[in-house]
Formats: sequence, C-alpha cells, structure tokens
Amino acid sequence: MTSKKPATLAVRAGINSDKHHGGVVPAIHLSSTYALKGFNDKRQFDYSRTGNPTRSTFGQAIADLEHGAVGIVTSTGMSAVHLICQLLTTQDTVIIPHDCYGGSYRLFTHLAKRGQFNVIVVDQNDEEALAQALAKKPRLVLVESPSNPLLRLVDIEKVTQASHNVGALVAVDNTFLSPLLQQPLLLGADIVFHSTTKYINGHSDVVGGVLVTKDQELGVELAWWANCIGITGSPFDSYLALRGLKTLPIRMKQHQENANVVAKYLKNHSAINAVYFPGLKDHPGHEIAKRQQKDFGAMMSFEIKGGVEAVKVLFDKLALFTLAQSLGGVESLISHPSTMTHAGMEIEAQIAAGITQSLVRISVGIEDITDIISDLEQALLASQI
Ligand code: PLP
Repeated sequence: MTSKKPATLAVRAGINSDKHHGGVVPAIHLSSTYALKGFNDKRQFDYSRTGNPTRSTFGQAIADLEHGAVGIVTSTGMSAVHLICQLLTTQDTVIIPHDCYGGSYRLFTHLAKRGQFNVIVVDQNDEEALAQALAKKPRLVLVESPSNPLLRLVDIEKVTQASHNVGALVAVDNTFLSPLLQQPLLLGADIVFHSTTKYINGHSDVVGGVLVTKDQELGVELAWWANCIGITGSPFDSYLALRGLKTLPIRMKQHQENANVVAKYLKNHSAINAVYFPGLKDHPGHEIAKRQQKDFGAMMSFEIKGGVEAVKVLFDKLALFTLAQSLGGVESLISHPSTMTHAGMEIEAQIAAGITQSLVRISVGIEDITDIISDLEQALLASQI
C-alpha cells in the first residue's frame, strides 16, 4: 500500500526497477522459462505461465492503484471474469446484473446452464428483487458500475454491505472508469477487475485483463487458479499495457473534457430521444456517481429518433467515429450494442435490460472536440432526412 497520488503511481510504475543496467523503463522479459540456481533451488520466477517479471510489474501497478493486495494479469478481460468463476462450486449461486457487458452475461448464463453454478440475473437497483436474490445466500455478487451500455449506476458500498451480510463476495467490473476514477475495493468490494483492452492500455492494440483482490489469501488462491488454468497475460501485452498506463491520467482528463461537451450537445439535439451519461444532472445515477466516482468517465449511449434505419444512416455518414466494438482507446468509437457488444444476450434479455434497436453507444476519444462535434452534427442531420 502506498500514499502516492494515482497519477504518480501510474506514471512511475516500474520506473528505475532495472537493477542490472539501470534502464529507466522496465524491461520486457520474454523468456518462457528461467534457470534454477541448482537442484530444487528456484529463483523468484521459474516458468512464465506461473510468473513473469514484466507481468508482475504491471499487476503490481494496478494493485497499487486499486489499493489491493494482489494483482493478477490475465490474457483478456473475459479471462479475468472466468477466473472469478473458479471460486464457485455446483452448489453456489451467483447474482449478476441484468444489464452487464454481454460477454459477462453470456459466460455466467452459459456456465449456469451446464450446471457449474446457479445464476440469478437481477436489476441491482430494484431493492426488492435484490433482497430476494440475496436471500438465496449467494457466494458471489457481480457488480458493473457504470454498466455497459446503459451507464446505470449501482451504489457499490450499499450493495457490498448487503452482500457481505449474507456471506457473499463482491466483484466489481471497473472497466468503464479505470482505477483513476473509481476504486471499488475502498468501497468495500473484495475483487475488482478490468478489461485492460480499454482505458488502461488505451491505444486499442492489446486485449488483456487484470484482477485485484483486497485480501492476500484470496489473491493467492486466484493466482493459483490463473496458473492452473493457464490464462495469465503475455509479457508483451503486459509491457504495452504498462506503457499505456503511464498516460492514463492525462488521457482520462481529455476523454472526459470531450465527453462532457458531447453529452451536452447530444442532450440538446432534436435527433436524440435520450442520452445516458452519468455526468448529466438528470441522470438517475448522477448523485451516486458524484459520491463514489472521482469523475464521470467518457462512455455514453443515446437513443436516436428514427429507429434502426436512422442508426444505419448515422453509422454510414460518420467519418471520424469508427464503427467498431471496444472502447477506451484514444480514438472515438461508435457501436450498436444490440448487434455488437451485447449480441451474446438473447433478445428477451436485451429488452429486459433496456437495450433497444435505436440505442447507440459511443466511446469519446481525445481528438479535437470541434472535429468530434462537427462529425456528429453532419451525420445526425443526415440520419433524420
Ligand atoms: N467488461 C466490460 C465492461 C467490457 O466492456 C468488456 C469488453 O468489451 C469486458 C469486460 C471483456 O473484456 P475483453 O474484451 O478484454 O475480454
């Protein structure tokens, strides 16, 4: 645990750790295996699936930022989610949010169908439904706040307390905010995880994940499983993600500055029916966001007038926004959750979560804001003709 400010931790992670050559930036260690000193006399690292210096530096950097005990770097965000599933037995119940990332929803519901555990899908803002689900004494409660793609907020402290009261562990997906804007372990959660593919790496050139535990023992157990099932991240991806991390504080500032302008612009646009962005005062989660987040992030979604036909024209006309899955890179991306990120959810589940055909999600990049707005302006105009 350290008292350094987050921006300092992000920038300084691994700096000056090269005792051999004095390299300022931590080296990348690609060796898959490490020589023993002698019979049954291992060094700190022996085999790269189990442990690797580059991966370990990156994992420690995120653990420090999240104020956790153990950081485990995984090959993807989904493998971080899957790693948590190793804690569950066939007798266990898991509560997942009804509007989480489509891949998480798919993983939990499909493993439950195979009988690996029981799953309860619940709107965690529906107090009665949540209380009923908690009465089943779950082993794990998964939280995603803000949620993908509707940016709904969950009061992490409140849900964590209620979950702990029935003996459940709480794992929070912090992908949309990064550890700079929200630190769920400080709100009581037991596990926090990220798809580092998004803001942490920030350049759309790595697919990776990381998981941090508050507790040392739980971290050791999960690190054991990560090695056992072979889902640890590669040294090269860890190197790139660590490199990306160093500019996270400054990137986040620009992402958010742009996102605030975009949200206000969309809010007042005649082609838009609704904007979902926690930074807007009338967002139902605005007050929770102010309390538990350091800022509002740069993800948002909106409902366009004219349904899916208008969505198609919008995508066709946009020149600067790229129509692509993913988020959190420096470039602005746009997507249609129903057919893209959340296609893994059955249509009924999408409807229950409020994911409509007119819903569009954007990841606001750090391009010049005037270019972002003028691109949206011409494409939104065309979408309404
Ligand atoms: N969690 C959230 C909120 C996501 O948006 C994603 C991917 O889009 C994931 C987890 C899964 O991450 P990955 O694609 O790196 O496996």
